[in-house]
Amino acid sequence: MNKIKMTTPLVEMDGDEMTRILWKMIKDELLLPFIDLKTEYYDLGLEERNRTDDQVTIDSANATKKYGVAVKCATITPNAARVSEYNLKEMWKSPNGTIRAILDGTVFRAPIVVKGIEPNVKSWAKPITIARHAYGDVYKASEIKVSGPGKAELVFTAEDGTQTRELIHEFTGAGVLQGQHNRNDSIESFAHSCFKYALDTKQDLWFATKDTISKKYDHTFKDIFQEIFDRDYKDAFDAAGITYFYTLIDDAVARVMKSEGGFIWACKNYDGDVMSDMISSAFGSLAMMTSVLVSPEGYYEYEAAHGTVQRHYYKHLAGEETSTNSVATIFAWSGALRKRGELDGLAELVDFADRLEQACVRTIEEGEMTKDLALITSIQNPTVLSSEGFIRAIRKRLEA
Ligand code: NAP
Ligand code: MG
Repeated sequence: MNKIKMTTPLVEMDGDEMTRILWKMIKDELLLPFIDLKTEYYDLGLEERNRTDDQVTIDSANATKKYGVAVKCATITPNAARVSEYNLKEMWKSPNGTIRAILDGTVFRAPIVVKGIEPNVKSWAKPITIARHAYGDVYKASEIKVSGPGKAELVFTAEDGTQTRELIHEFTGAGVLQGQHNRNDSIESFAHSCFKYALDTKQDLWFATKDTISKKYDHTFKDIFQEIFDRDYKDAFDAAGITYFYTLIDDAVARVMKSEGGFIWACKNYDGDVMSDMISSAFGSLAMMTSVLVSPEGYYEYEAAHGTVQRHYYKHLAGEETSTNSVATIFAWSGALRKRGELDGLAELVDFADRLEQACVRTIEEGEMTKDLALITSIQNPTVLSSEGFIRAIRKRLEA
């Protein structure tokens, strides 16, 4: 059989624990037999990050800027327990955080919809993609516990020394205070990433804030989005037959529950944190959720939304059989291969990505799945497969 050719390498970011095991199985069973796979390999496994003082993470992010498309395996974000487990030189930062800081992107998360894993909301026929702004607001806030009576003010001191003041509250007793900020350049990046991703996936874009109450802060988000849309994207949206829709956050929540899905929902940082957990659990499972970081320059990094599935890894190390769901990791590969194919004009590669995804979906819809899905499926008497058995079942359909 002739293997599908690639012209530009993908940036391959290997990872940790059970997902590292799945990573190799996916390559051996589902990719290498079909594609002349070209990748530039970066080992983001914790041992290599420790050995290189985390330089390998920085190098992998810079390589993504060079080539444009990366695929990432889940990685351990070290905590105190990991520092002793892996004998680390220091508690290295989250690789996702480091990569996001270099690429300056927005993370889009979308459920993988299959028949037999029904969303809890009956009207959701198509996936809902959450785009979460990943900078500022309550995540970078300063807070004070007020102990008694006094005056609280917001003070901004410009470089030339001039001050702007705004009364927050005259306290007559104890209370709490919080100062939040965001930056126009970060909001602009967020907006560009959202509009680009909507065009890319040909889906409507929704955005919502509480601008009626927050007339300066949230209104700035609304204005920046509208300005960028009118200037840079309106014509392209018209041509693609998609729309940009702004509404209040409470109205958006009500509409989402009654919608049939199939759109991107852009959220401020906190809204995105809360709503992405609601969407993912309502659609079934984190193991059926894709995640892609899109930078405003148009670099893409694809990954699974779940972690390294540590508990399954320890079972694997103990020689026990595991039943870990590889769908989100396979979709990270198919997403990256499809994007590479589109950028390089390789129709065969795009077609392969489609067929790989269809093979995953068909395997589950025909009743063969991992344990996590067997527990929630509406399919009668599903066959529960091992991690490896499931990947082989997908290969059988891919070959057919
Ligand atoms: P996790 O790896 O997402 O797993 C939590 C639990 O969810 C698992 O124990 C398992 O439940 C279930 N699960 C998740 N993915 C699954 C899959 N593919 N197939 C079947 N079941 C799945 O989260 P964690 O255990 O809290 O975190 C482990 C490590 O991952 C941590 O070191 C964390 O830093 C890292 N992490 C990395 C990323 C990333 O790189 N993007 C994201 C999150 C966490 P059962 O055990 O009940 O079967
Ligand atoms: Mg959260």
